[in-house]
Amino acid sequence: MFTDLHLHTTFSDGTYSPEQLAAEAKRFSFVAIALTDHDTVEGCTRMKSACEAGSIEFIPATELTCEVAGVELHMLGYFLDVEHPRLLKQMTRFQTGRQDRIREIVARLRKLQVPLEEEDVFALANCKSPGRPHVARALIQRKICASLDEAFERFLKKNRPGWVPKEKITAEEALALIHEAGGLAVVAHPGLARTEEALPALIEAGIDGIECFHTKHSPSASEYYVGLAEQHNLAVTGGSDCHGMNKGKPLIGSIKLPYQYVRQLKERLRSGHPARAQAKAASVTTQI
Ligand code: AMP
Ligand code: FE
Ligand code: FE
Ligand code: ZN
Repeated sequence: MFTDLHLHTTFSDGTYSPEQLAAEAKRFSFVAIALTDHDTVEGCTRMKSACEAGSIEFIPATELTCEVAGVELHMLGYFLDVEHPRLLKQMTRFQTGRQDRIREIVARLRKLQVPLEEEDVFALANCKSPGRPHVARALIQRKICASLDEAFERFLKKNRPGWVPKEKITAEEALALIHEAGGLAVVAHPGLARTEEALPALIEAGIDGIECFHTKHSPSASEYYVGLAEQHNLAVTGGSDCHGMNKGKPLIGSIKLPYQYVRQLKERLRSGHPARAQAKAASVTTQI
């Protein structure tokens, strides 16, 4: 029995619809999956129905953009109440920020005489949480770039002319929000970018788990993170980070996480991790 706890759909920068993703999950015989679209939980309702139709257990989740000491990192939130008002309010903020950012990226590219229209990107993204991959695809559609990599290398990476920073919250805010919405907070792909250097602060801040298994982690990196999670009594998770056909071959199936890790997450949720209990107490106090 296997699961994949890191997947994207057309509700952010993936290319599979929830129904297509459920069909792929079925093809790989996954018994449970989590949808972790960037800065949105909008796809969860359709994903849940699609999973139900395929007798796959569905875990509502998200991947939040946050930062600690100036380092951008991604925080996964699992088992969220996708109707939680404060969570939804923050999602709206993220999404408005992402849409404004697309306009700014396009404006910068146009200054360089790149013939791209905002509407090219928005039509192609067709979601509330657009990102750079949508700009990259629009550049390909306009035959300005030949590949996603070329688009990122020439225009979209940090320090390139189309680079615009993203709306972020602090890691502490992300943790509190996920806990308030009833979920577990797990740091995504610690082996990527500069997340590694933020790990001690994140552990101190009270994360619930570490995404030890990820397509871009080497076996020795995964082993190292499992050791770290055990040392700090944190949950172990893993997922493919599949974005559909974004880069040719879909990544789903590259990580097959044993289902026992989902059981452990649920156990952690039931037993009420100290950090979560604190967040609950804090939110109750706020309401009073
Ligand atoms: P954004 O959220 O708009 O900053 O875009 C980040 C997303 O872009 C990541 O989640 C990846 O899906 C994707 N990405 C980052 N670098 C590349 C790249 N070189 N080629 C294709 N996709 C990329
Ligand atoms: Fe992405
Ligand atoms: Fe990520
Ligand atoms: Zn992701």
